[in-house]
Amino acid sequence: MTTEGFETLAIHAGQEPDPGTGAVVPPIYQVSTYKQDGVGGLRGGYEYSRSANPTRTALEECLAALEGGSRGLAFASGLAAEDALLRAVLEPGDHVLIPGDAYGGTFRLISKVFDRWGVAWDAVPQGDPDAVRAAVRPNTRVLWVETPTNPLLGIVDIALLAQIAHEAGALLAVDNTFASPYLQRPLALGADVVVHSTTKYLGGHSDVVGGALVTADAGLGERLAFHQNAMGAVAGPFDAWLTMRGVRTLGVRMDRHCANAAAVAAMLERHPRVGDVLYPGLPTHPGHDVAVKQMKDFGGMVSFRVRDGEEAAVAVCDRTRLFTLGESLGGVESLIEHPGRMTHASAAGSALEVPGDLIRLSVGIESAEDLLEDLRQALADEGRLRRRVARS
Ligand SMILES: *Cc1c(COP(=O)(O)O)cnc(C)c1O
Repeated sequence: MTTEGFETLAIHAGQEPDPGTGAVVPPIYQVSTYKQDGVGGLRGGYEYSRSANPTRTALEECLAALEGGSRGLAFASGLAAEDALLRAVLEPGDHVLIPGDAYGGTFRLISKVFDRWGVAWDAVPQGDPDAVRAAVRPNTRVLWVETPTNPLLGIVDIALLAQIAHEAGALLAVDNTFASPYLQRPLALGADVVVHSTTKYLGGHSDVVGGALVTADAGLGERLAFHQNAMGAVAGPFDAWLTMRGVRTLGVRMDRHCANAAAVAAMLERHPRVGDVLYPGLPTHPGHDVAVKQMKDFGGMVSFRVRDGEEAAVAVCDRTRLFTLGESLGGVESLIEHPGRMTHASAAGSALEVPGDLIRLSVGIESAEDLLEDLRQALADEGRLRRRVARS
């Protein structure tokens, strides 16, 4: 365990100035292979960039430090990281438990790919520990957790689920994409492995797709590294460098994401056209107490329901000017989306279906007042708006 603070690690872990040139940040080692000093004589431990690349190593060491783990591994996408993890720890005949509202890509990977290879699975509401305990089978190998969840911002008690998983002889995997290691460190709460889509808050600028795994267990770390190399879906040098560049400012960005999201949630809660506001920072949120216990702050994602129904929700999404209509999340710019028709359209008719009047916001780090004003104008009752224009 290191004694350095989070922001110090974000800027320095894995990022010693380049020994050859003094370059202050690790350069983009855009290279596939490395000269050997005689057969088998590796200079810096590098032989081929699928197995390891110095730019990727910098990112991997930094991510391991930020999550409080011993081994970090960077992949071409969040789903590539998930695939490598599941292949490393599962065999045909095993069983996996996933959240009732799992990220759609995770649900698809398990239900459409692993299912065909003889892995059984169940989706359970993980906010209810009794439901999780009841769903555990003798062959359950992985308990897969997301918290906060997408798009309903549900909160799962990581320490409690770690206990349930370990009693069953299963691993606890936590997808920490929504919180980021700045707000929540699952390994310290008992998780065996942390999963990230670094595409989101870690990269933070909507300019790179990537994924990561971090574990504290050296043996598991070795197995995951073997699969990373064997399957080959690694992060390329430029992607690793871009992600690293984002990671250095994660702390200051997250502070602003959280402050802006809290301001947005507070405004929406008082707005007459808004029904439920789903934000773990609100004392009325069912997961608020657990979130206080396991998170430093409540994150930048806010979902809410529009009182006048689905068409009104779609109209609000079409009317924002600053919030860009788009999928994904975690970038500096604010995004708005309609989960029922966009990110979660494929869940229609399934247990993962989301309400039609739901809107999801990825609250960016623009000036808070501008974000509030944009949402107010998008929510303004159209009839009233027209009357006001006619009067003036
Ligand atoms: C985006 C996302 C993923 C998948 O990551 P990709 O980088 O898109 O492959 C996994 N989990 C969560 C929670 C996500 O938001």
